[in-house]
Amino acid sequence: MMSNKIHWKISYIGLGSNQDNPIKQIKNALVNMGKIERTRIIKKSSFYETEPLGPDQQPNFINAAVALLTLLDPYELLIKLQHIEKKQKRERGSIRWGPRTIDLDILFYSNVTTNDDRLVLPHPEIQNRDFVLFPLSEIAPELMVSEHLNVVDLLEMEKPQNLSVKKIKNDD
Ligand code: ATP
Ligand code: CA
Ligand code: CA
Repeated sequence: MMSNKIHWKISYIGLGSNQDNPIKQIKNALVNMGKIERTRIIKKSSFYETEPLGPDQQPNFINAAVALLTLLDPYELLIKLQHIEKKQKRERGSIRWGPRTIDLDILFYSNVTTNDDRLVLPHPEIQNRDFVLFPLSEIAPELMVSEHLNVVDLLEMEKPQNLSVKKIKNDD
C-alpha cells in the first residue's frame, strides 16, 4: 500500500544580489531561509562575485547556492522565498535581469518537473549560467541537470557569454 506520509525533499536554491551590500543581503537571506518552517539548510556554497547577465551597466553580483531539506511542497517553498525577497526589499522593476537586493530561485525540487505561470522546475537556465553552476558544483557536483550531463560536465562547457565568476573569501 502507498504511504501517505510526507517525506523530506531535497531542494537546491540559487541566491543572487547586486544592491544594498550584496554580501550582507546574501547572509541575511541565509538567516531568513534558516527560519523557514519545516525546512532545514543542509549545505551552503561559498560566495562568488559574478559579472551581471543582461544590462551590463549594473554592479557585479554576489551569488551562492544552498541545499535544503523541506516538508513544504514546491509552491509553498516558492511563497516562503518570495516573502524573504519582499522582506529584503526586492523591487519588481520593469528591467529584465536588472539590479536587485535579493533573488532566490528554486533550481531543483527533488525530481519534480513543473511548467506553469508560477513555477518552472528545474529552473530552465541552469545549464547556461556559470554563476549558478559554480556554487552548485560545490554542494552537488554530481547532480544531473539534463538527461546525460551533471553540474560539473556543464561547468566545463563553453557558454555563449563568457561572464566571469570568481570565488570570494568568506569571513565566516
Ligand atoms: P530568471 O528566472 O531568468 O533567473 P529572474 O530571477 O530575474 O529571472 P524574477 O523576476 O525573479 O525572474 O521572477 C519572475 C517569476 O518567475 C516569479 O514571479 C516566479 O513566479 C517565477 N518562477 C518560475 N520558476 C521559478 C523558479 N524555479 N524559482 C523561482 N521563481 C520562479
Ligand atoms: Ca534569477
Ligand atoms: Ca527569481
